[in-house]
Amino acid sequence: MFSKSSIKKTCEYCNKEYIPALYQFKRQKYCSLKCKWKTRVLREKELGIFKGGYNRETHIRLWLDAKAITDISAPCHYCGIALYPEKFVIEHKIPRVKLKTKAMTQDITNLVISCHNCNSEKSTTDYNDFIKRKHGRNK
Ligand SMILES: [Zn+2]
Ligand SMILES: [Zn+2]
Repeated sequence: MFSKSSIKKTCEYCNKEYIPALYQFKRQKYCSLKCKWKTRVLREKELGIFKGGYNRETHIRLWLDAKAITDISAPCHYCGIALYPEKFVIEHKIPRVKLKTKAMTQDITNLVISCHNCNSEKSTTDYNDFIKRKHGRNK
C-alpha cells in the first residue's frame, strides 16, 4: 500500500473515509458540514442544551415560507446594502464578548441586521465608533 492513505481521514460521525481540505487537515474531523452539525446536535442533546434541529438559515426560510413571503430583503444596518436572509448575519451592537448574560445576548435592541463584510469589519469595535467610522465622511 502506498502512503497515500495517510491523507485520508475517517469521519467521526459517519465513519466514511474522506479527504480533508488541505488547509484544515488537522482540524477537520468530519466528512461534511452535515456530519459536523449532527455531531453538535448529539452533543447538545447529551448536555441538555439542544434548542432545535435546524440551523438559523433554515429557521428563517421556514418562517418566510410560512408567512408566504418570497421577496424579502433588508438593508444592512451599517452600509445599507440590500440583504436576503441567507446572506445576512444578526449583529450584536455591543459585541457578544462584552455581554455577561444570555438575556443580554438576546436583547432585541442590541441586535441589528448586517452584511458579512460589516460584521467582520466591526468585530469588537465599539458600536458608536464603528458608526462614526462608517458614516463619518457623509456628515
Ligand atoms: Zn461523515
Ligand atoms: Zn454592511
